[in-house]
Amino acid sequence: MSKKNIITIDGPSGVGKSTVSRKVAAATGFTYLDTGAMYRAVGLYLKRYGVDLDSKEDIASAMNTLDLLLIPAVNDQSDVGVFINGEDVSNTIRTPEMAMIASHVSAVPLVREILTEIQRGYGGKGKIVAEGRDIGTVVFPDALHKFFLDATPEERARRRVEQLQKNGVVANLQQILKQTLERDKNDRNRAVAPLRQAEDALLIDTTEITLEAVVLRILGEIVPKDGQ
Ligand code: C5P
Repeated sequence: MSKKNIITIDGPSGVGKSTVSRKVAAATGFTYLDTGAMYRAVGLYLKRYGVDLDSKEDIASAMNTLDLLLIPAVNDQSDVGVFINGEDVSNTIRTPEMAMIASHVSAVPLVREILTEIQRGYGGKGKIVAEGRDIGTVVFPDALHKFFLDATPEERARRRVEQLQKNGVVANLQQILKQTLERDKNDRNRAVAPLRQAEDALLIDTTEITLEAVVLRILGEIVPKDGQ
């Protein structure tokens, strides 16, 4: 299997994947693909239309009418633009409530199937940094560079609160820690594409290092491989 020039960054929520991925994308000139944003957008869409998550038919017909568009971030400080049927939902999807909804919706096999296809479409030409939960294992198992970031739940909750506050969202540390643990449980235990480290991914424990150090570590791994 020939490997694709793709960088995958997987890991649990709040580990710093977005910050790290954006910086790695900026440094390499690759396009940043935020797959979590896609699950959040689908969660918002299905919730709005009151779709029964236990009904495959209802999900299928709702997904048929969904036009999901991602506009790549313009620099390492900005988020990707997320549009559903022409409406800009980039900010609406960035709340703890939407994170929990995404976590439930992402366990639905049909939703995963559709989003995985779209993600593969974005990665067809290579040169992307894709972050999520199953990117190195399921979406791009043939990626050249794979990383798995981890950190303690307490540290991840602390980072999440900091990030939400920066975006003007009021957040309570204990509540975010509870949601972090619940999302971990959902993401690691679902039947389809559960969160796990790919066998050929490099594990980086970020608990006690800065995200800048993580970026340097990743860039250091990428350069020698490309120069081979
Ligand atoms: O990364 P983010 O926190 O935005 O992801 C929101 C939720 O979407 C996650 O908790 C997870 O359940 C789901 N997700 C997923 N697979 C991905 C990306 C996100 O299941 N590749």
